[in-house]
Parts: sequence; C-alpha cells; structure tokens
Amino acid sequence: MEPESSFAHMGLDGRLLQAIAELGWAKPTLIQEKAIPLALEGKDLLARARTGSGKTAAYAIPLIQHLLQVKMSPLVTEQAVRALVLVPTKELGQQVLQMIRQLMAYCSRDVRVADISGQVDMSAQRPILMEKPDVVVGTPSRVLAHLQGHSLSLRHSLEVLVLDEADLLFSFGFEEDLKNLLCHFPKIYQSFLMSATFSEEVQALKELVLHNPVTLKLQESQLPEAAQLCQYQIRCATEEDKFLLLYALLKLGLVRGKAILFVSTVERGYRLKLFLEQFSIPACVLNAELPVQSRCHIISQFNRGFFDYIVATDEQVLAEPVARAKRKKGAKSEKGKDPEYGVARGIDFQNVATVINFDPPASVESYIHRAGRTARADNPGTALTFVTHPECPLLAKIEEALAGESTEPVLSPYQFRMEEVEGLRYRCRDAMRSVTKQAIKEARLREIKEELLNSEKLKTYFEDNPHDLRLLRHDRPLHPAIIKPHLRNVPEYLVPPTLRAITQAPLNKRKRRKHLAPSSSRPRGCFQARGGRNPLRSFQYMGRRRRHLASKGETS
Ligand code: AMP
Repeated sequence: MEPESSFAHMGLDGRLLQAIAELGWAKPTLIQEKAIPLALEGKDLLARARTGSGKTAAYAIPLIQHLLQVKMSPLVTEQAVRALVLVPTKELGQQVLQMIRQLMAYCSRDVRVADISGQVDMSAQRPILMEKPDVVVGTPSRVLAHLQGHSLSLRHSLEVLVLDEADLLFSFGFEEDLKNLLCHFPKIYQSFLMSATFSEEVQALKELVLHNPVTLKLQESQLPEAAQLCQYQIRCATEEDKFLLLYALLKLGLVRGKAILFVSTVERGYRLKLFLEQFSIPACVLNAELPVQSRCHIISQFNRGFFDYIVATDEQVLAEPVARAKRKKGAKSEKGKDPEYGVARGIDFQNVATVINFDPPASVESYIHRAGRTARADNPGTALTFVTHPECPLLAKIEEALAGESTEPVLSPYQFRMEEVEGLRYRCRDAMRSVTKQAIKEARLREIKEELLNSEKLKTYFEDNPHDLRLLRHDRPLHPAIIKPHLRNVPEYLVPPTLRAITQAPLNKRKRRKHLAPSSSRPRGCFQARGGRNPLRSFQYMGRRRRHLASKGETS
C-alpha cells in the first residue's frame, strides 16, 4: 500500500515518478508534501526550508511537471527558456543542476537544463543559451550579463522563476542585479522563493517578485531531531588539546565515515591539513581562494567517496549578510577571495557522517548550516563542536538560541577522557612543531598554483573526457615537512585500554580498505561500528560506566 502522502498521489507525469523511484525516495519530505500540490495549482510560494529538507526537489518537481505539460501541448512548438533558477553560488548552481538532471532522467530529450553559474567565459556559454534550454540555472549577475548581452531573452518566454537560498542572494550583494533583472521579465510568471530565514531582505524580495504568495513556514525545527542528529560539545583545555583530540578521534577510528572539519580561517585550514598529513591522514582543503572548478570537483569527488575528510573554511561573512550587501558589482572580496563562495550554505555534501567544528562557528545560523551538512534526508549524523575556554561564551549563545524553550541541553557534553589519550600527546606535539608558519604559507601557495592549473585542465579537458574526471585527486599530501613514517600508525601500547576492543578491528579494516574501491555512497559512519554501535557513544558511555564502577570500587 502506498503511504498516505506519496508522490504518486500528486498527479505527476510518469517519467517524473520513474525518476523519483530511481532516486529511492519513498515519500515526499514535509516541504515537498506541502509545496508541490500548491505549486502545481499555479500558486506563488514563499517557503522557509532548512538545508537538507528536500527543498530543491520541492520546486524542481512542479517546475519539470509544468514544462512537460507545456511541451505536450500541440499549440507550443517554439523552443524557449521557460524557467529560471537564481542561485547565490556556483556550487549551489551545480547542485541544483544535478538534482534537476536526476529528476529529468526519463525526459531529458523533452526538457533541457543548463547551468550558467560557473565562472567560465561568457562566450563559452553563449552557444548553450542559443539552444534555448527549457531551464536556466545561474547567479543573478551572470544571468543579467547574458540578458544585457542579448544572448538570453526572457521577456516573452519566462513562465517560472525560482529564487533559491533567497536570503543569501541578498547577502552576496545581488540586490542591484536582482532589481535590474526584473526589467527583463514578463509581467506574469509563477515564482518560488526558498529561504532558510525570513529576514527583512527576504520580505523585500517577496514584494518584488511574488504575487499573492502562499507562505510555508513549516513547523519543523531548523535541525533534525536528536534521534537523527547527535550533537556534542567537547571542552578542550588548550589549543593543543584540540589537535590531540582530533588526531585521536580520527586515528583511533572513533569518527568513522566521511567528515567535514570546519575551521575559522584559510590559514587554519592548511594548518590542519598539514597536521593530519603528518599522520598520513589524507584530507582536502576547501576554501574561497581555490578556483571554482576545483571547488566543485572537490565536492563531487568527496560525494563519490574518493576521500573521507574535507577541511572547510566557513567564511565569517556568511554570518554577516548585511555587510556583504555592500559588495560592488563584479568586485572580488578581500585578498582575492571569491565572494560567491559558501561551504556551509546550500551545498549538498552527501553522506557526511560527522561534522566537526574544530573552531566553533561565529553565529547560531552558521552552526545550523554547518551541522545541517550531516543527517541529511533520512541519514543519521553527528555534530561535534570543539571549544576552548575563550570560545565558551560564543558557544553558550549558540546553545541558548538552539534550546529555545527547552531546558534540555542541545549539545550534550562529550565525556572524552583526555588522560586516556595522553600517550599520543608527544606525537601530536611533534606533528604540530613540523607545521610551521612558513610551511603553511608554502602549502597554501602551492595548492592554489596547482589548483589553478587543475582548473584550466578541468575546464577544457574534462568537458570532452568526463570519465577521466576521477583521475584528478585533491587530497594529495602537500608535504610541508618531512613526514615521519612511524607516525602513520598508532602502536598498540598507545591505544587507550578502553578503546582497544573497538579500535582494533577498524584499524585493520582500514588497512585492507586501501586496496578496495572508494568508499561507497552509502553513509558509513557512526552507526556502522562493530556490533552496530556508535563508537563515539560507546566510548563515552564506557568511560562513564567505568568511572561509575571505579567510584564504587568495582572493576569492569
Ligand atoms: P536539499 O534540501 O534540496 O538540498 O536536499 C537534501 C537531500 O535530500 C538531497 O541529497 C536529496 O537528494 C535528498 N532528498 C530530497 N527529497 C527527498 C525525499 N523525498 N526522500 C529522500 N531524500 C530526499
């Protein structure tokens, strides 16, 4: 029997239903359940949807359905751009494109989509637009440039407009572009405005583009329930403890599966990558200095399981949208960083088992968006926030905002007993010493140089040879210092006794895995430990129990 709310009940085209079935989606998410029927009725929508809620498909499904209907009409013979999806970043543009393509898997001959959000030359995009794809995905500035350059026309053809991550569209300084865009649109079209927050800017945008909209403020919390997303905080006495803890968590297999490690600056991102390199833990860095092709490629390889760890810089600016709005058109932000970069917002990292806030986020919004990178759709996930004493007030604010009315702590204290990993401190210090300022500077320059070359290669070569895309790796060591081979493994005598039982199997398994195919797309991670137990939890509880038993004078 079909579940009460099902895609099949929505009256969707069979080709769409087939694609949805292939994606393995059993039922619509909350936002999809509410938004799709209204959109199919032709209503304008203003929807607040958290990342990972399935919001892209919530507008993409009715959009494709509309286009399929239009195309089946014998009165419509002319090919035209009928839908426009505006996104704040190129990464989100790629993700939206992918989602739409997946949903169009069985009608790609009838409906076509093009993404022009990438930073390629405008002239390279003109031939694509000349073919008048049914859906165009792009950033406001790029779309405007094409409209002004007459390579795109929407005045007589636009039927559906989507503003995805609308709050960010303003924060990236696209306000002026958006206003200019409106002069190129017809008088009547259907609009969907999706936003994580209902800020003042979003209200202003609503006035500009929506006509009598239905507002969907779904009664869902900003983050998944505790049963799906475990949130912990770990107090670290010193900066060094943060590094030691991370080393222990990764090397002893307490964090399993794919993880995103968030840091506060680009410099710290490289410091962490080089530190992990010392222990032969491959990770790749993602920040605004890297060219867009490389960034998209890094995310795509991470999603395909080529490597397990990304060290991401969550730009502070994401927390200060108003300041960003002052950006002048086409200007690059400070020190050559790309203003349209955003790791924590909008981008779909797939199957992330754990988010580690190595540095705590600057705001509650940032925390939500970082934590929202894990536990997406129906998958479980863990968010761990490391916090040193000076960072405590910041975390307290975040906790307070997250707790709302509830008196329960949202971020449970993670009872990690540092003394159990004291044996690893010497190695940790050794590795930290090797990561000098000079080494970081060199690594940063080298990576940018290499990625710029990669980027050029990627752009031209991989268009013709998509299968070779997998050959380019971003998690190669940067080798700032001599890597001491003995640091690669943790000798048994250094493994805390409480952990021996749970770490041995995975450590050996990891050795074997090197010869196997890349990690699968299935979320591996916290619930895949031996005996189906979460290794993080088992260690925590084991620690507590032992302490409890010890206090009673018993031994386990
Ligand atoms: P989004 O919020 O659009 O970024 O989507 C987050 C993730 O949820 C994507 O990886 C989608 O593939 C997935 N997703 C979207 N809709 C569903 C659904 N109805 N059931 C299961 N997964 C979904």
